[in-house]
Amino acid sequence: MFINGHWIGVQSGKTFDITNPATAEVIGQVPDGGVEETLQAIEAAYDAFPLWAALTAYQRSGFLYDAHRLMMENLEHLAQTMTREQGKPIRAARNEVKYGADFLLWYAEEAKRVYGQTIPAPRPDQRFIVLHQPVGVVGAITPWNYPVSMITRKVAPALAAGCTVVLKPAEATPLCAVEMFKLFEQAHLPPGVVNLVTAADPVPVGQTLLEDPRVRKLTFTGSTAVGKHIAREAASQLKRVSLELGGHAPFIVCKDADPVHAAKGAMLVKFLNTGQACISPNRIFVHRSQVEAFLDEAKKRISRMQAGNGMEAGVSIGPLIGPDALAKIDHQVKNALDLGAEVICGGKRLMGGGLDKGYFYAPTLLNKISPGMRIYREETFGPVAPVVPYDSEEEVVEMANDTHYGLAAYVYTQNLSRAVRMLEKLRFGIVGINDINPTAAAAPFGGMQESGLGREGGREGIAEYLETKLGGLSV
Ligand code: NAD
Repeated sequence: MFINGHWIGVQSGKTFDITNPATAEVIGQVPDGGVEETLQAIEAAYDAFPLWAALTAYQRSGFLYDAHRLMMENLEHLAQTMTREQGKPIRAARNEVKYGADFLLWYAEEAKRVYGQTIPAPRPDQRFIVLHQPVGVVGAITPWNYPVSMITRKVAPALAAGCTVVLKPAEATPLCAVEMFKLFEQAHLPPGVVNLVTAADPVPVGQTLLEDPRVRKLTFTGSTAVGKHIAREAASQLKRVSLELGGHAPFIVCKDADPVHAAKGAMLVKFLNTGQACISPNRIFVHRSQVEAFLDEAKKRISRMQAGNGMEAGVSIGPLIGPDALAKIDHQVKNALDLGAEVICGGKRLMGGGLDKGYFYAPTLLNKISPGMRIYREETFGPVAPVVPYDSEEEVVEMANDTHYGLAAYVYTQNLSRAVRMLEKLRFGIVGINDINPTAAAAPFGGMQESGLGREGGREGIAEYLETKLGGLSV
């Protein structure tokens, strides 16, 4: 753990094991922190806050530029750590490191643009000046599926704004966090500005961050259930919260779309990170006239996907993160088949050929999915592409919006008017139109409804870490 500029363990020496999900081998240990270490980290962040906030934006920006450079210099090492710890293919891990580094670069620049304003006042002797100031100590909790970029997406805007941070990474992927904090150390961030607490049990650390009044904001990426718990608990001290939660993205293939192009996009985004992404398509609505051509192309593409250890060349499907993920997917697929779905390919755990010890599930294509099936309602978080045939635009918009989630949606169409109608009517925070990667450090990312509160990235991302202060002057 990295607290107040020092690497420390817990006093008892207690650690927990980290395993490679492709092989089930133990690849490292990290300290098993708890309440005591979290309190130390909060104290360090609290003490560091006034000095960090008082630096000029140019000075804070300089640290972020350094951290960005260090990330790019250590890209390969970070990517290899990620593949061993989280399982994604090495090429995808490299892309994630680059995407993660972009947040440091972008917020190094944005730090200098935290503009206030002057407002015309109603009295002749009155002046209004609006300032933006950092909220204070931030507690950050990150997930395992994007173990590097979810750190920079929170830490970069928080530091740019002038906040200090206590971060708790997911218990499955703390090694990536440790490697990132080594780089923060090399960037010579002052002691206490960023602190890392690792723990096998997230609850004591999470509760301490929630209950300690010195922490003024919680930023969380993870499941909707835990996000709601955090929002409820944070309310007792009216701490600010940013929540990036689960999703259930519709992917809509319109009757005027090219079904081959749409299937290419759908398969690329569906199987990215083995489906373990909050913006992964979970319900693929295909116009009935396009279903056959779409399924043919999707099946062809799946047949070329190779599952295996992400370190091996040619592998595009890594393991799931653990046995619970396998069980959930197996259950969803069996339930769909029992209720009349048709399996086009896949539909089972992958064994043999060196895959037995890892948590591999075959890339799966299902057709004839209907509203009574679990997969139609629940986030899947795995390599299963469920196709739902539909007949009209009105019907598909209603079906797509029929979820309590609201993170990402995708539309494939060649009709501009339809594209605009869909963009306006879909109740999701991110809508990709003929585009499967509608994310970047410069763009606001986040969900509506039970997919979250607040945005990460873009101008909105730094506003989450700023208070607005009004100065009213009589002159
Ligand atoms: P999770 O909610 O179980 O865990 C996320 C983090 O919260 C981990 O660090 C975990 O240790 C911690 N945590 C768990 N229980 C806690 C508690 N009681 N108090 C404090 N912290 C606690 O989710 P997960 O399984 O790690 O991640 C998958 C979920 O994250 C999916 O639902 C996915 O859609 C979502 N996700 C969302 C985004 C987004 O930007 N919206 C991005 C990635 C993942």
